[in-house]
Amino acid sequence: MAMMLLIAVGLLLGGVAGFFIGRSTSPRPAPPATTEREAHLLRQVKELSAELQKTARERAGDLTIASQIPMIVKRLGQRLSPGAIPGIAVRTTKEIFLASAAGFFALKKEEGGFQLVEGVGFPAGWKGIRRFSSTEGILGAAARQQIVVAKEEYLAGMKGWPTPPGTLEEAGFFPDIAAPVVWGGKTFGALVFAGAEGSLGAKRPYVSMLADMVASAFQNSIAVETADMEASTDPLTGAYNRTYLVRRFESELRRARNYTSPLSVLLMDIDHFKQVNDTYGHAAGDAILKQLAALIRKNTRSSDFVVRYGGEEFVSVMTSANQDQAFLYVDRLRETVAAGEFPVPGNDVPLKVTISVGVSSFPDDGQTTTDLLKAADQALYTAKAGGRNRVVRASRVGLDGKPF
Ligand code: GH3
Ligand code: MG
Ligand code: MG
Repeated sequence: MAMMLLIAVGLLLGGVAGFFIGRSTSPRPAPPATTEREAHLLRQVKELSAELQKTARERAGDLTIASQIPMIVKRLGQRLSPGAIPGIAVRTTKEIFLASAAGFFALKKEEGGFQLVEGVGFPAGWKGIRRFSSTEGILGAAARQQIVVAKEEYLAGMKGWPTPPGTLEEAGFFPDIAAPVVWGGKTFGALVFAGAEGSLGAKRPYVSMLADMVASAFQNSIAVETADMEASTDPLTGAYNRTYLVRRFESELRRARNYTSPLSVLLMDIDHFKQVNDTYGHAAGDAILKQLAALIRKNTRSSDFVVRYGGEEFVSVMTSANQDQAFLYVDRLRETVAAGEFPVPGNDVPLKVTISVGVSSFPDDGQTTTDLLKAADQALYTAKAGGRNRVVRASRVGLDGKPF
């Protein structure tokens, strides 16, 4: 294409040059028609060289995009949490398409349509608030047909932009292109670009490829999260397991040390649980474990975490909590458990259980995760020995193993 244009421009330039040479040697005055022909030829030369320049610019643009692909593959291919993907997608694609607006809209059917999750160049206040149609407008068309829709074909045969209710267009925003993010046959969102230099319709293969890459980044991250979750949780109670405790406790303790902030460990154990199993059966015991775990988790701050440490033992790590704060919290939890009623299969009357708890705190009761768990275990032992259904603080356990 570029070659043909070059030849055409060359031929025309040759024609113009020949014409001028011919004219300068001609003795006759130039007829008016000649000026017209001359102007016509010049116009054609101008048009063709403009065309050539445009093609060259487009090719340079394509090359720019192509050269950025490895970077995008790398960025979107790394281990990402689903929440990080829209931001990366928007930032990288805005750069390569030189668009003044780039956004990722998530399709939330239950919330009634598309919602801007991450965007540059969109009106303030849209993000996470304003809903857009999933069936109308250019965004709706892309979602419905599950193909990339550029404004050129969207507007073909129309006089101007239609503005159906609930669309971007109705809100005064006119995209150049909308690319649905689809996997498993379902539209999860869309990339939208506007204000690009030149036509984005011509860049459709790239836009389409990017939307596919965003879709697989989402798929990967969800698969990784699910696998991580399965590897780190206990299937019966949904609480974290010991593998997770080892990893998370180390990093929380490192943080506590770095910020010289306190941290407390709670070791909770159900009292006389063997009796529950022996009297009401293992299924009843399991039902209690599940309900107790749910109760503890419900009462746990998002900064803290609960682990099923053993059969009927749970560990909570309370970040930024000193021993007094941890004691107040867990003593209230102990009361809640003691006041609770736990329905179990095979028994009409709900069961009652109590827990005993040992509390240890960084930095006073230990400097390492092992020492802190050991201190909490000793305190728990003291609580059991003291009659159960109680909380004992490691700092209040004497050398004789008795609380003071
Ligand atoms: P203590 O007050 O001293 O803690 O008495 P306990 O009976 O609770 O303590 P012990 O360690 O002797 O028994 C723990 C029991 O927990 C043993 C086992 O029957 C029960 N257990 C452990 N894991 C599970 C489980 O996954 N499901 C059920 N149903 N029971 C479990
Ligand atoms: Mg036990
Ligand atoms: Mg027990």
